[in-house]
This record gives sequence, C-alpha cells and structure tokens, in this order.
Amino acid sequence: MLNFASMRTLGWLWVSWLLLVTREQALPAAGLDGCDLVIRHGRVVDGTGAPAFHADVAIKNGHFVAVGNLGGIRAPEVDASGLVVAPGFIDVHTHVEDILEQPEAEHFLRMGVTTLITGNCGSSAPDIAAFFEAVEAKKIAPNLASLIGHGGVREKAMGGSFNRPPSAAELSLMKQAVAQGMKDGALGLSTGLIYLPGTFAKTAELVELARVVKASGGIYASHLRDEGPEIRPALAEVFQVARETGIRAEISHLKLRGQASWGQAAEILQVLETARAEGLDITQDQYVYTAASTSIESLILDEARTGGPEPFKAWLSRPADKARVVADMKHRLQRSGREDYRYVVVADFPADRSLNGLNLAEVALKLRNSSRLEAQIECIFEIYLRGGATGVFHGLLEADVRAFLAHPNTMAGSDSGLHRFQVGVPHPRGYGNHARVLGYYVRELKLLRLEEAVRKMTSLPAGVFRLAGRGQIREGFLADAVVFDPATIQDRATFEQPHQYATGIAQVLVNGVLVIKNGQPTGARPGQVLRGNCP
Ligand SMILES: [Zn+2]
Repeated sequence: MLNFASMRTLGWLWVSWLLLVTREQALPAAGLDGCDLVIRHGRVVDGTGAPAFHADVAIKNGHFVAVGNLGGIRAPEVDASGLVVAPGFIDVHTHVEDILEQPEAEHFLRMGVTTLITGNCGSSAPDIAAFFEAVEAKKIAPNLASLIGHGGVREKAMGGSFNRPPSAAELSLMKQAVAQGMKDGALGLSTGLIYLPGTFAKTAELVELARVVKASGGIYASHLRDEGPEIRPALAEVFQVARETGIRAEISHLKLRGQASWGQAAEILQVLETARAEGLDITQDQYVYTAASTSIESLILDEARTGGPEPFKAWLSRPADKARVVADMKHRLQRSGREDYRYVVVADFPADRSLNGLNLAEVALKLRNSSRLEAQIECIFEIYLRGGATGVFHGLLEADVRAFLAHPNTMAGSDSGLHRFQVGVPHPRGYGNHARVLGYYVRELKLLRLEEAVRKMTSLPAGVFRLAGRGQIREGFLADAVVFDPATIQDRATFEQPHQYATGIAQVLVNGVLVIKNGQPTGARPGQVLRGNCP
C-alpha cells in the first residue's frame, strides 16, 4: 500500500508528466502555426549551464515560442543536426562608438556575438540619447547597449584642466550628466582609470558618481587603475566604490600585465571571492589572449599628455621635463620586468601604415637606424605627435588567462572595436574571442564544459547587465541564437594575420532574423538598442 509521502510523489510525477505532455502537444494548437522559423534537430545548450538536450526550437515574431519535439509544426526550417543551438553571445566589453560606419559589425556576428555592450573604459558616446537614436535610424545587425563613460563626462565638466579634483560645481555637472545618461538608457557607468582624464579622478569622485548610477539601478564597470604590480589597491578601490554605494561592480578585462605580476591569478580570484563573501556584488570579464591592446601613447606619462600633442611638444623641448618623461617610462618598464618595448606591436598607425605589424624595436630600427631603448622612446613620442597609433601589447601569462576563464563569474568581453577588413594589424580578439573560448578552451583544452562556457557568454552577462528576456533559449525569450558545430568551431585570427573570421558557425539570429545563414552574412540589420530601465 502506498503511504502518503509516496502518493504525494506519484501525484507530483503525474503533474510533471501532464506538464510535459501539455508542453509538447498543446503548444502547436496554441498558436504555433505561422512560426517564422524552426531550428530542427539541434542539441540545445540553453544558456543556463544545464546539460544540453535534443530539441527543436520555434521562433515567431522575434521570440522563442517553443522548445521541444515540434515535428507537427510546419514552418520554414533550419537543420541543426549534429550542431549546437545556443543563445546568441553577449560581448560585454566593446568599443563600437563608430558602429554607424559599419552597421553590420561582421566580425562580431561571425564569432556568434549578437549583443554588444559598448561605452567601456570611461569612453562612450557623449550623448547617449542621440547615439541610440542615430543607431535606430541607421539600423544595425547586432543588438547594442552602452555604458556612460566617466572620462567624457569629466572632460566636458572640467574643460581642459584635469589634473585636480573637480570643484563642487563641476562635480554637480558630472552628476547631472551621468543621471542624464542613465535616463537615456545607459546600463551603468564605465571608468578608465589609466586614461586621460579618468586617471586624475580620486576615489571620492567615483563614489559620488556611482551613487547616482546606483539610484538608477545601473552597474559600475571599471578599467582598473593598475593591472600589474598595483592591482590589489586598484581592486580595493572598486570594492570601496561598491561598498560605499551598494552598486554592482564589474572588473573590466581582468588580467595580470607584465612578468613581475605573472602567476598570481589564483590569489587575485581569492581577493574577488573575499569581496563577494563580504556581500559586494563583483563580477569580471576577460578576453582570452596573452596580449592587450590600447593606444601606443598610453606608454607616455599622463601628465605630459594632458593638453594633447601641442603642449607635449613644448614639454619635450624643456630638457628637465623631457628627462622626467623618459625616466618615468624606464621606471615603468623596469617595474614590469622588461628591458624595452619590443613587446609592443603597432596595430594601426594611420600616418604611416608601413609601420603596422612591426614591434617598437623594429620601428626604431626603421625610423632611427637603431633598435636601442632610447630610439624606441623617441619613436613613441613621434607616433603620438603624428596622430597616434593603436598597439598590441604582449605580456600576459597563459596560465593566468586560463585561471581567470575557469572562474564561474568571468564573462567573455572581446574589448574590440570595429575593424575594417584587411586594414591594420589589430588584436585578433575582435575576430575570434568567443569562438576561441569554445574551440580552444572547451574542445581542445577541456578547461570548462561547453554548457558552462556558453552560460558565461549568455545568461550570466544578461543577468549581470540586466538585459531582460535575453541570454537563454527559452519560451518567451528574444530569439538571439547561434548554431555552431562544437567539433569545428574555431578562431582563425592570429596576431600576425588577424583579419580571419571564426569558423564552425553555421547560423546566427538576432531577434529571430538570420544575420549569418549557412556561414555567410545575410546583410539583415535586425539589431535593437537595449536601453536600461532607469526608474
Ligand atoms: Zn579598458
């Protein structure tokens, strides 16, 4: 005889079965005729981290409307036999303020990215509302969200003089600008604390602005003040902002730069864990390469570049000031355990593209007939004075990259801008980052499960950045999806030859519309602007 508990269990089983039956059989009758598309016979990795399962996925009006055995539905279909069907990837860290010039954002789509979060490292469109309106008028292929950049806000409020705290009036202007950005739909505030003018901001200023963002429900995303020997105090500063305001905080492109800091990933992750244990809501993102990329002129003392190239020229003409800049550069090299700048490769120098792809020792040999450090430093000055260049900065430890990637709160962020195909020698991350996670780190190294890697690129970022209704293959969710072959997905872009699209990605959908079909871009631009819901 059945006791009460087992009857209850049976009853629960019955209800579950009924739900399953209803889910699989009743849905077609409930309006699935006229679906726009059914992705058939795929292995669904739904974005939550749950084990993959075989199912068809039906899409209607830009949403997933059914997931299951949908043999009865007649609709246009995509065959995903042998392939994985995952939510479209969210790239949480990009710099695509110029997306109006390349609205198809092809190299992002081709690595499975369907949503870009831009406005990072303190640098965003100055007017979020105008930017979003222009994007909507132009129409773009991926979805787009933005943070409001602290650097731009600070620059506008303080004019050309940055190396000081803001006056009360200036701080008030900055708060207003941040509040406006949040009202216009920014997801939060970004800081770039190694860049001008953010580098001159003290923690108290960041706390004041974070308070405004917190009141609007936003996030604080920070390019740390230091990613090498001083990373601990730099992290402590983020924690202080989070602690004093209660804001959620994101560590942008977590890394350990320079040999002197290598091998400390486990300790740094422990520092983050300790902060979380304290109750702070801290997450992080990362690109999966052993090189960084930023402007070459960032190697020059901030103070000397405050007013731009013209005042810098005057600075160099004063021997004592020039000596100070050179000494600072040598000191920083030494502190990071390096002898010179041959770890830096020119990515794109518009004033002289024959230098693209050369490291700074090679540049010095070409321009100064000497590869010595002094000649390299002169070349860095020259590059800045001739309009500046982007560079690729080698010098991260692969073991650290892996340790950061394996952590459950690390998301994928390429840190890439939009590249013109075949122009310059940019960092390969914009062409390969998300595919590299799945090809190299999941399939080849087995560093993490496929389902877990997909979670870190979908539901985790959707949750952290509050992108409602995205990041999962689930009924009612927006139909951003990527269909790929787990056996062949791979990044092809290398440091030497970065302009190579990722492979193994068959279909990419944004809001239910195919933007990559059978591996080729369709030219469709169904992307939406994703505004934060500022109360
Ligand atoms: Zn950055």
